[in-house]
Amino acid sequence: MSRKIRMGMVGGGPGAFIGEVHRKAAGIDGRIELVAGAFDIDSEKSFQMGKELCICPKRTYSDYKTMIQKELELDEDKRIDFVVVATPNNWHFPISRDFLEAGFNVMCEKPMTLNVEEARELKEVVEKTGKVFGLMHNYTGYPMVKLARDMVKQGDLGKILKIVVEYPQGWLIKPIENEGQKQAAWRTDPKQSGIAGAMGDIGTHAENLAEYITGLKITEMCADLTSFVEGRLLDDDGNCLLRFDNGARGVLQASQISAGRENGLAIWIYGETQSLEWHQEHPNQVKVRGIDKPEEIWSRGNGYVAAKSAAAARGSRLPSGHPEAFLEAFANNYKNFADTITCKLEGREPSELELDFPDVNDGLRGMIFIETVVKSGKNDDIKWVKFPQA
Ligand code: NAD
Repeated sequence: MSRKIRMGMVGGGPGAFIGEVHRKAAGIDGRIELVAGAFDIDSEKSFQMGKELCICPKRTYSDYKTMIQKELELDEDKRIDFVVVATPNNWHFPISRDFLEAGFNVMCEKPMTLNVEEARELKEVVEKTGKVFGLMHNYTGYPMVKLARDMVKQGDLGKILKIVVEYPQGWLIKPIENEGQKQAAWRTDPKQSGIAGAMGDIGTHAENLAEYITGLKITEMCADLTSFVEGRLLDDDGNCLLRFDNGARGVLQASQISAGRENGLAIWIYGETQSLEWHQEHPNQVKVRGIDKPEEIWSRGNGYVAAKSAAAARGSRLPSGHPEAFLEAFANNYKNFADTITCKLEGREPSELELDFPDVNDGLRGMIFIETVVKSGKNDDIKWVKFPQA
């Protein structure tokens, strides 16, 4: 296609965290340009942000409903191709639904909605409109995660027996939500965050990572959720046992009160013949261990990685030894999302590699995970809880 894909943004106002990451990551490959936005819940701040980003003042909007209306008034060759929703969780559903129904593609932050009911409704809207919907589970965008998935798919580990996945953070060990820290304030407020705290915020990333790499589905879980910080309404720590649909067993823990931990997402996958290990804080390597042989370290950007995984090769931009990380993983989801939109615009079917980004089904799985983990974790009598079908 001889033009860039036009992006709009809702959220990501002054001082916001993830909106800025989206803007940088979407721009990495030079194929997406930000042209419009309703950047903040406060309209003054939205206009301030638009000015800082040099967005045309006519395309900086006071709120997302005005944005939809005004974008629809533009000629089709000027309108945004997609919107990214980078607001707190309670806004994801209405904003995504309204843009989809108005005919726009959507990239939404996780968790997808506030509950399973909304998630099912959003899935119906995506199916009805036929628009492209991406969900920013950015950790599956890492090339070495894609390598791990291809190793499992190609049988390198044998039958998967056990999965251990953890996401420890320590930034909520103090009640900073009461001290004006705005990212903490909405994350610990059930009205804006939903029924889960740490499990919704980062536990869903762990769940998505385990299911993405192994291709397995969690069928049942037994969870223990705690709010360690006095007065906090949502969990800030949780530990779960998992059962998967092939009989594999698992352990998932997510925590925001693990003192000193930063973003320690990590996964260990144990098969009948080999096991593998990946760490988000050292994302350019996958370790593989077998029976009675030395440990292997697979390093991103090498020919042997490309030979094993076309998806990993496609998601690497720099030669081996030059670290790639968080922004590039986001950018990989954007690359495949934008390619899929381009295919639709050109009337072509996207390939399996182009369709490799999290979508509405991942979002629904995430919401089912949240509801199941809370049901099990908050009830001392009923422990093993089955996952309802997606
Ligand atoms: P934040 O509080 O830093 O920013 C939220 C922004 O959204 C603010 O600018 C706020 O004014 C704006 N906003 C709120 N309601 C709005 C509305 N109705 N219209 C327009 N703007 C609105 O929050 P954050 O940490 O950036 O998190 C935002 C979302 O991103 C959350 O859903 C969170 O779960 C997700 N997130 C994802 C990752 C990831 O790794 N994928 C990381 C961090 C956050």
